[in-house]
Amino acid sequence: MDYTKGVLVGGTGQAGSRGTFDVVDPATLEVIAQVSDAGPDDAVLAVDAASKAFRAWADTAPRARADLLMKTRELMLRDAEELAQLIAAENGKSLTDARGEVTYAAEFFRWFAEEAVRPHGDFGSSPAGGTRTIVTHHPVGVAALVTPWNFPAAMATRKIAPALAAGCTVVLKPAAETPLTALHIAALMAEAGIPDGVVNVVPGEDAPAIVAAWTDDPRVRKISFTGSTTVGRQLLRQASERVMNTSMELGGNAPFIVTADADLGAAVDGAMIAKFRNGGQACTAANRFYVHADVADEFTARLGARVEALKVGPAADGCDIGPLISAKALANVHRLVESALVTGARIAHEAKPATAPGHFFTPVVLTGVTSESDVVREESFAPIAPIVTWTDTEDLLTQVNSTEYGLAAYIFAGDLGAALKLAERVEAGMVGVNRGLVSDPSAPFGGVKQSGIGREGARAGLEEYTETQYFSVAW
Ligand code: NAD
Repeated sequence: MDYTKGVLVGGTGQAGSRGTFDVVDPATLEVIAQVSDAGPDDAVLAVDAASKAFRAWADTAPRARADLLMKTRELMLRDAEELAQLIAAENGKSLTDARGEVTYAAEFFRWFAEEAVRPHGDFGSSPAGGTRTIVTHHPVGVAALVTPWNFPAAMATRKIAPALAAGCTVVLKPAAETPLTALHIAALMAEAGIPDGVVNVVPGEDAPAIVAAWTDDPRVRKISFTGSTTVGRQLLRQASERVMNTSMELGGNAPFIVTADADLGAAVDGAMIAKFRNGGQACTAANRFYVHADVADEFTARLGARVEALKVGPAADGCDIGPLISAKALANVHRLVESALVTGARIAHEAKPATAPGHFFTPVVLTGVTSESDVVREESFAPIAPIVTWTDTEDLLTQVNSTEYGLAAYIFAGDLGAALKLAERVEAGMVGVNRGLVSDPSAPFGGVKQSGIGREGARAGLEEYTETQYFSVAW
């Protein structure tokens, strides 16, 4: 693929108006591609194409749209290994994680192909009589999609698939760190037969300018963003100018709670997934561990043994944990650990450091951490497991809920009823109960508080791309 013609507008690859930018493998620090660098003019051209394609796509029979989405899934699975290698190269994650992401990402096309053909709407009679109400749902229009670097495939397909299933056309801005996977998926969508202009991709380093061109454009009816709460807040302000339809999937600070009666083997297995999948760079990543004092030593020792066995290094060497995405992320994580150590925490367990030149951070288990510590209060986005002990449930809940975030949480407990009662009081959109993974295309992914607005996946994910209209009919 010629990435220097990577501004995909109306089915044609074009050069960017700002030249090109480099994509760097964070494990080797080598430049792996030069990609066309789009500016606001390119962003507007993408909206021209998406607007032009909208009516025909919205009017395409749901079954025909569904067939094209299903075909895209088949092509993603055909090219699964190539996509996994690409994700690993531009993001740095392990090949196991990258392969898992491809399957997960492709599944959104299947789920939303199936949802696209489910009839939905309502019919009612007014209480006073004399009228009937018919409720229908229409595609919202051209949707702007903005995605982060941590899941280059899944964050794109989790938006593109429901948007297209609903009958919307899209303009997508992938993260500048990881534009290659999105461009490959767009090429597969074209191969599947999705018409030109339905999916447009605008890679570029000047994200604020590209996205402002979209929030300023009255033809763009919707913005769906996944990324940090700071940028989400900014985009909500921009979107408010035109009272745009918005969906926000933002940051998290997931607590991982272990009760005294938990199955510790299962809890450690769950912790390895919740904390170390994607090297800790997931919005759902367990950020802080609250372990009952009665089992804290045993849990820490068992988790520590698993962490010490992790192989840290490039995906190409078959490692479990890759690098962080950037030097900036690495510096921030060192700051968090150092500030914890200054306030009395200690590194109880540590993996062996990587020998490669990339942005590697060696996974650690920290003990003696307090709830006031920055490493507990901030989203670390790194393979750090800080352990806080607890004894009183009300005190635990106060600590768990004292964060502006509310995305994911995890509870490991022997008594399922008690676990569910506890889960109901945790302020989070998703709670893994005796499971370290909550992501599932058939479930409504999303957060409360400053972790976001709206849901992705499930029926709810499709409704994010529709408007409700009713007809009041004289009867
Ligand atoms: P980020 O907010 O810096 O960037 C996300 C996207 O927004 C990128 O495409 C980026 O280029 C773009 N962007 C950056 N600044 C912008 C601006 N001023 N205007 C318009 N667009 C802008 O986030 P990130 O560092 O790429 O990703 C990590 C964050 O994403 C974490 O906080 C993580 O929790 C969150 N995240 C959330 C979910 C979720 O589903 N809730 C999923 C993955 C990641």
